Amino acid sequence: MEIRKGIAVSPGIAIAKPMVVDSKDYRIPRRSIMASQRSAEIQRLRKAFSSAIDQLQGIESAQDIQEGKIRDIFAVHMRFLKDRSFRKRITDFISNDLVTAEYAVSTILREIASHFAGIDDAYISERAADIFDIEKRLLTHLLGKKQEDLNHLAEEVVILAADLTPTQTAGFNKSFVKGFATEKGGRTSHTAIVARSLGIPAVVALGDMSSEIPPDCVVIVDGNRGVVIIDPDADTLKQYDVYAQQMTQFVHQLGQLRELPAETRDGLRVRILGNIEFPDEAEQVLEKGGDGIGLYRTEFLYLYGGQEPTEEDHYNAYAEAIRVMDDKPVVIRTMDLGADKLPHAGWHANEANPVLGLRSIRYCLQDLTLFKTQLRALLRVSVLGDVRVMFPLITNLQELRQAKMILRDVMEDLDEYAVPYKADMPVGIMIETPSSALTAPLLANESAFFSIGTNDLIQYTLAVDRANEHVSTLFSAAEPAVIQLMRSIIQDAHRGGIDLSICGEVASDPEFIMLLLGMGVRTLSLAPPMIPEVKKIIRSVTIEECNRLAREVLTMDSSRQIKNFLRDAATRILPETF
Ligand code: PEP
Ligand code: MG
Repeated sequence: MEIRKGIAVSPGIAIAKPMVVDSKDYRIPRRSIMASQRSAEIQRLRKAFSSAIDQLQGIESAQDIQEGKIRDIFAVHMRFLKDRSFRKRITDFISNDLVTAEYAVSTILREIASHFAGIDDAYISERAADIFDIEKRLLTHLLGKKQEDLNHLAEEVVILAADLTPTQTAGFNKSFVKGFATEKGGRTSHTAIVARSLGIPAVVALGDMSSEIPPDCVVIVDGNRGVVIIDPDADTLKQYDVYAQQMTQFVHQLGQLRELPAETRDGLRVRILGNIEFPDEAEQVLEKGGDGIGLYRTEFLYLYGGQEPTEEDHYNAYAEAIRVMDDKPVVIRTMDLGADKLPHAGWHANEANPVLGLRSIRYCLQDLTLFKTQLRALLRVSVLGDVRVMFPLITNLQELRQAKMILRDVMEDLDEYAVPYKADMPVGIMIETPSSALTAPLLANESAFFSIGTNDLIQYTLAVDRANEHVSTLFSAAEPAVIQLMRSIIQDAHRGGIDLSICGEVASDPEFIMLLLGMGVRTLSLAPPMIPEVKKIIRSVTIEECNRLAREVLTMDSSRQIKNFLRDAATRILPETF
């Protein structure tokens, strides 16, 4: 039994067989071999190489690739496959570390690919893709029919991976993928956010998991405590079975809150909205008792389809969510690509700091064709319900004015063709940088509403990459600087007479709900599966208690003190959660 501690990012317990996945969706079991199997394994490797070479020769001699770039690419592949030192590196790895041929191929090729990818020369860094291709080719010959991709699972599994992209996670088949655990990532990385939306238990930032995972073992992913247990003993397995049953009961009890209002004991009504990435999640928002959609992350349209969405793709996706919501509000955020949400490999690969780079609204303001396509669809759906548009990552007034000017341009285009839209559709912004927080009074004059994106606000305030496991302990909403910024944004929104919500992950953190209410927040937007728990907390407190708690927190000077204080308060109210 091996117990690993990481960061809990999506609650729940998953117990199933492990499936080790690499970044290309291939299943690469890390299996050890006995010393006596060494030469048979090297023989398998040789066979895979010669089959791959035969296959390439066949392709190369085909008529249609006699010319040009494709032939060059295959020539590179062939050179690699025939390179003795390359093959020796793999056989040495098998011999010395006693691992299977497929694991050795995958590991060595990934080392080479990441070396190429890190070289600051576009031509060389692009060669990383060739290495992946060679790896794929060799693995096809090694794994043969055993090769499985994630789309064709036949049994329940928990996924173990170095890292997963948000797109991979969003594509999981929930009937079979019961949970996942990754070596990298942080609580507010988008992979974690998608896991929460899907309701899949997940733990990230586990560090190197390349220790042997025994064949046919079971793995427990405890998304409440941030623990992964590989090959648990019988007692542990029994305890977890009981714990998982208790959790199911707890979730069932919370489900009974669905029809009840999110209202404090002394009668203050709070609005709980859902964060969604795909239109089909809208149903879940209603099922869980949400009052609307507070954040529709539309960039997943770009991440999932494999190509840039058309105006009709946008229209259909938004129309579906709006139809489900009927007359409830739907806040559609314009595309927020970049940082860890990359539509394809190589997207702005040359940026040294993508989080500080050409992402989100900045990208939209440079690619007006792409931006206007989305805005046209957004305006067209505005007549279908209570639709509001929200610009992400606004850092100053000029950016907001520019974005609104483009929106007006699109309105004029629609006028020309007499296409109906709601001219007074509310236009709001996300406050997720210190810059916008500090100039909130100015921005409030020209925005219909604010939504605080605490994930990015924390990242930019504390200078801590939200997806970097090495600094994850520094990423905290309980830092006094973050709390003071949040409070001043809330006050500025109130003074400016505009609506305010919180849509970062803090809004679903049971420990923070009382503080947010005490600081004056009345609208929360969060992953749909978390709605019942947050509602339960709201229904268990009085606003007077929350105000008192907030006043006290604002006098504290360290995140540790604040965190402990909030945790104690929340545990008293809802011990089952902790
Ligand atoms: C945020 O930054 O808090 C937010 C809600 O947006 P995203 O997580 O998509 O960056
Ligand atoms: Mg953000």
